[in-house]
Amino acid sequence: MENTFTHALPNKSGYFGEYGGSYIPEQLQAIMQEITDAYDEAILDSTYLSELADLYSGYVGRPSPIFYAKRLSQKYGRGIYLKREDLNHTGAHKINHCLGEALLAKRMGKKKIIAETGAGQHGVALATAAALLGLECDIYMGEVDIAKEYPNVIRMKILGARVIPASHGRKTLKEAVDAAFEAYLKDPVTQLYAIGSVVGPHPFPRMVRDFQTVIGNEAREQMAELTGQLPDHIVACVGGGSNAIGIFSAFLNDIKVELHGVEPAGRSLTEPGEHAATMAKGKPGVMHGFKSYMLQTEDGEPQDVYSVASGLDYPSVGPQHSYLKDIERVNYDTISDEEAIEAFFEISRLEGIIPAIESAHAIAYALKSKRLRGNILINLSGRGDKDIDFVVENYGEKYGIE
Ligand SMILES: *Cc1c(COP(=O)(O)O)cnc(C)c1O
Repeated sequence: MENTFTHALPNKSGYFGEYGGSYIPEQLQAIMQEITDAYDEAILDSTYLSELADLYSGYVGRPSPIFYAKRLSQKYGRGIYLKREDLNHTGAHKINHCLGEALLAKRMGKKKIIAETGAGQHGVALATAAALLGLECDIYMGEVDIAKEYPNVIRMKILGARVIPASHGRKTLKEAVDAAFEAYLKDPVTQLYAIGSVVGPHPFPRMVRDFQTVIGNEAREQMAELTGQLPDHIVACVGGGSNAIGIFSAFLNDIKVELHGVEPAGRSLTEPGEHAATMAKGKPGVMHGFKSYMLQTEDGEPQDVYSVASGLDYPSVGPQHSYLKDIERVNYDTISDEEAIEAFFEISRLEGIIPAIESAHAIAYALKSKRLRGNILINLSGRGDKDIDFVVENYGEKYGIE
């Protein structure tokens, strides 16, 4: 397999402009260097690359197709194309980087991969990769989330992972990250911490980005085949930012292709704690070992965040997105809960595709934004099976479901 993992950024210290880097204790610094070295070696090794390519095709089902959404296109007067990451094994794009990270862990002689999870999507994808590759897997999860996301907790356990409750503070994602970091510091030799998006200290924003670039590389060829040209616009939702950077990366140098990242405006963009629109409302700060736009309180602590899509409610964002915002290569905008749910039903009923509520944010923007015309490629990051109970309970009546 050809090595396509070469990008100009980040620099050697993990910076995209002023963002990224590695703001962590001395002890972890050495471990991160070890991971960086192992990764640099792996991507020059055709055995590693072809093993990953074989898993993408035989196990994940790649390449994921691009589907022309005819009825949506007709209704909204624009060409809507969907990159179908929802068709991947486990139902979303996260499996792309989990397999890359798990293969790297094996190569480094690690016995166990560990991670935090919020809604459980990263936990399930990582537990899947661990089962496949014969690694142990510990997933740290807030007690509140464990109660809320029961089906994913069960999936992880069926797959053989241990789900370890984080029971301090607000008992959600941030506390899960704390617990996972603590466990990692205790034993960085036999374990590898597999971060779930393009966030965290260097080299994770780079590494996770590289693994997700498969989306954009495929899409570039597929769009050329389907339409004879590149798309006019590409739209993706942004939580940590991995699916978005995965599709954007292959088009960054195509200046004519407009790129749009969509953050969640939640219930209200003007009230702190009621949204997770990091780049719209945040300012540069450091958390979880890296510098980026960040939603923060007056004393610089991470702000509480909220979105109807639990995969999008993170108070920071991948550092490369902060950079791309500042240099104005990508347009970042927001979509509210209500708009996302409306798009969720629209694509379900016009195309027979139930999307993840996260992905519905990208769909809503592609359908609604007045600045979009021509051919629009949406990264459909995941399927909505995980969301149907919640949607029916909270929005069923409005959309005619008894
Ligand atoms: C986790 C998740 C996201 C958000 O994560 P990114 O790193 O921003 O891609 C988006 N869509 C789905 C389906 C997810 O599971």
